[in-house]
Parts: sequence; structure tokens; C-alpha cells
Amino acid sequence: MTKLISSKIGDEWIADLSKIKQLKAYANGSNNKDFHARWQAAKTTNKRKLAELVKEECGVDFPLDSMFDVQVKRIHEYKRQLLNVLHIIHLYNRIRRGDTADWTNRCVLIGGKAAPGYFMAKRTIKLINNVAEIINSDPEVGNKLKLAFLPNYRVSSMELIAPATDLSEQISTAGKEASGTGNMKFMMNGALTIGTYDGANIEMLDAVGVDNFFLFGLKVDEVEQMKTHYDPQSMIAADEDLKAVFHLLESGHFNIEEPGIFNQIIAAMKDPHDPWMTVADFRSYIEAQQHAASAYRDRQHWTRMSITNTACSGFFSTDRTMQDYNNDIWKLNPMDLG
Ligand SMILES: *Cc1c(COP(=O)(O)O)cnc(C)c1O
Repeated sequence: MTKLISSKIGDEWIADLSKIKQLKAYANGSNNKDFHARWQAAKTTNKRKLAELVKEECGVDFPLDSMFDVQVKRIHEYKRQLLNVLHIIHLYNRIRRGDTADWTNRCVLIGGKAAPGYFMAKRTIKLINNVAEIINSDPEVGNKLKLAFLPNYRVSSMELIAPATDLSEQISTAGKEASGTGNMKFMMNGALTIGTYDGANIEMLDAVGVDNFFLFGLKVDEVEQMKTHYDPQSMIAADEDLKAVFHLLESGHFNIEEPGIFNQIIAAMKDPHDPWMTVADFRSYIEAQQHAASAYRDRQHWTRMSITNTACSGFFSTDRTMQDYNNDIWKLNPMDLG
């Protein structure tokens, strides 16, 4: 993809990332058919490399024409890997009830380390692995949905992951993520973001525009307001899809031989004092995911949004950040290095 970008705008963008905005001129597909085809081909090549890693590490097949939907980051309740799992179980329920008109095949990859003593984080990893086992071995699911948990997520795996991702999951509870940096790596590599109004997602949204970003969920002030009367159990009762997801979880469908192991996770999500308000954003998240899935089926539209994301990522350069710090705070004079 680097070579492809340089073939259009030269290679100065590599040392001066502000120049990557020149790529915007090539985002329109009707005038740039060849460039769009090569953009898609580069993405597919990168997806093949990630699929090889996933096969090796997880034993799961990721078909290359599926949407690659990725959440990699430390496992923490505020980063809401659990919200992602609720969506995956919802998709699984849709397949089971035959609700698959206009379906977009999806491969979900989740990765991240948990601190050794962080019980809920470790148990979240266990849940992801158990749900993956059930989904991937169900012949009725087939290529419609795949799920893999990648062990030992680290920088060298991110080097393969970010270039191969179609949809980047940035779904923290608003107010909890200071910035995030994974979000920027994905954007630069032409992934679309599904995300809450939190951390650097806010600046990314500003840079790329709301038409090129799948925004959902409560904003910081709405989270604060809801705290006084948050009632997840009524929300579950009032939403047929969410009710079905909890019913499946509580029935032990994903832990037949390990009774009760997800009780603490289920209880945490149903607790009115859940600080992460996982359940509150479920409906909004499902709708944003549905938008992403339909958008992915229009390949020309998706490619235009993908190129636009890369073209608008220049603001997230460390050099620009340092320059701003110097202008506003340090006010140091540049040194002549001779
Ligand atoms: C970028 C990166 C992170 C930080 O990810 P966030 O989504 O910002 O939390 C953590 N670990 C690795 C290996 C990374 O590459």
C-alpha cells in the first residue's frame, strides 16, 4: 500500500505525513478505477498474510472476501470487548433463526493481553474463546461468521493486523479512553472505524467526517446523566435481540461443560452500577454494525471511504504533535544540526 500511495503522490509523505492528504484527490472511484482496483488488491494481499497468521495461531479459516472486523488492545472492562461479544452472539442468533437476507460475511478477530490478576479480563478472554469454539464448529454458520482470539497480541502482530483490517473496533465507554493509538494505526491503513465519541476517536471523526466513520453510543454527558437511573435489566427486557443474547449466555450454551463460569460476567453487565454501561450502547452499536455491513457490500463506496481515511490520517503524526507542544508549551528554538 505504501508503494501504491507513493506511485500517486510521491514519497515525501513518508517523512512529512501532512502530505498524505494529497491522496484525497484519488478517493473518487469513477475517475480512478485502476487505483481503486489496486487499493483493493493491496488490502487483499494484506488480508491473506493475516489469515495465514490466524490459521497458524488459532486454527481458524478467515475467507479473504469477508469483512475483517478487528478489536486488538489490552483487555479491560472500559474497552468493552464484552460489547463486541454481545454483537457477535447477536449475529449468531440471526443466523440460527434464518434472518440472513443481505448478509455480509464477517471474520472477527479479537486480541489483547490481560493483567495476570485481573479476573474479569481473563474471564472475558475465556468467553471469547468459548463463543469462538461454538460458532466456528457450527455447520449452519459456515463462512457467514468466524471468530478468533489471537494469543500474545504484540507490536509484531499489529504490523500484520492493521494493514489487513476493514473495520476497526474502538468502542470504549465515553469518557474512559484518554486517547487510544490503535485507532490511528488502523485509520492510516485504510480501515473504517466503528466507535464511540471518546478519546482520539473525536479528532479522527473531525478529520475524516461523519460519513466516513461509524459513530454510535452515549456521549460523556449522557453517560453521566444515565448513571443516576441506569437500569440494564429493563433495557434487556425491552429489546428482543438483547434479550435473546442474554438468554443464550444464561442458558450455558457457551459453557455446557463448565457450569457457571460466566456468571460474574453476566452479573456485571446486568448490574445497575456497571460503570462501563455495556448494555446501554447495545442497540446503537447493533445499528452502526448494520450500517457498516451494508456499506461493505458496496465495494466502490467502501474503497472511497477507506482511501479517505488514509488521506485524512496526517494529523495523527507524532511530528505534528511535537510541533504543537513546542509552539504552545515548550517554546524551544530549533537547533541547527549542521
Ligand atoms: C497500538 C497498540 C496498543 C494500544 O492500543 P489501543 O487501542 O490504543 O489501546 C497496545 N498494544 C499494541 C501491541 C499496540 O500495537
